[in-house]
Amino acid sequence: MILKNLLSILFIALCSQEVFAEKQARYLLGVKTLPSNQTPNSYGSYAKGCLAGGEEMLENGPTWQVMRLSRGRNWGHPNMISFLKRFSKFVAKETSWEGLYIGDISQPRGGPMLSGHVSHQVGLDADIWMLPAHNLKLSKLKRESVSSIDVRSKDRKKINKNWTKDHMKVLKIAANDPIVERIFITAPAKIYMCENETGNKDWLQKIRPYWGHNFHFHVRLKCPEESKWCEAQKPTVHHLSKGGNGCDNTLRWWVTTALEPVEIDPNKIKPKPKRHPKEFTMSELPKQCTSVLNSK
Ligand SMILES: [Zn+2]
Repeated sequence: MILKNLLSILFIALCSQEVFAEKQARYLLGVKTLPSNQTPNSYGSYAKGCLAGGEEMLENGPTWQVMRLSRGRNWGHPNMISFLKRFSKFVAKETSWEGLYIGDISQPRGGPMLSGHVSHQVGLDADIWMLPAHNLKLSKLKRESVSSIDVRSKDRKKINKNWTKDHMKVLKIAANDPIVERIFITAPAKIYMCENETGNKDWLQKIRPYWGHNFHFHVRLKCPEESKWCEAQKPTVHHLSKGGNGCDNTLRWWVTTALEPVEIDPNKIKPKPKRHPKEFTMSELPKQCTSVLNSK
């Protein structure tokens, strides 16, 4: 009898360990409120990885405010934090904006999140609000409730009156920073910038049209040199080395064909759903993420 009980306890223990091992990483990394006490390192890819030694973007600075503080996503690789400080300072100097309203960066230890984003996992992605920062004295409470602005028309084909020349200046400042890898923004904004840049258009190569991104734009930094396990993104056809800045007909696709309704063939077999990055378990993330999770 005792042996039987012991065996069943052992069995339950093994099972629960199994459950723990397979628990989605977002439930483990997503509840950490402090970074790991490790040397800064971005492990894995933008949409499947984690962050060691994350640095906090202070809630307030001379040229920025972090929005939605309750989300606890104001952590990044030190390269990101220094970039945001430099970028916001430049914006305050060169435009009518006082600086930047900064949205999500990463969780203290990066990784998949309980809600929202697919990427933002390695501390090298940051969302910047389209709402010009004209008041850097917003209270914490106000920063939970205030909304950003939409710069796209209702039919999703053009920019609207919320878009200003200063938006373009802000984007250009970011794109000209050598540490920036690419910037995602709604296609009509890129179309506007392609049409209104009268000088060198090379910087527009880094500006990439993407779904959404009409209330904020998303800045992605290059892998830090010393982060050996950070996976760089493949260059696209518009990479400058291939001669492209993306201001061509492929850009029009986003505001034409892409917006047309798609006819669904009921006889077509649905493909097996792809595993969503939010569902990754710890064992699917780079192995270093386990030490990031368990670190003090
Ligand atoms: Zn983003």
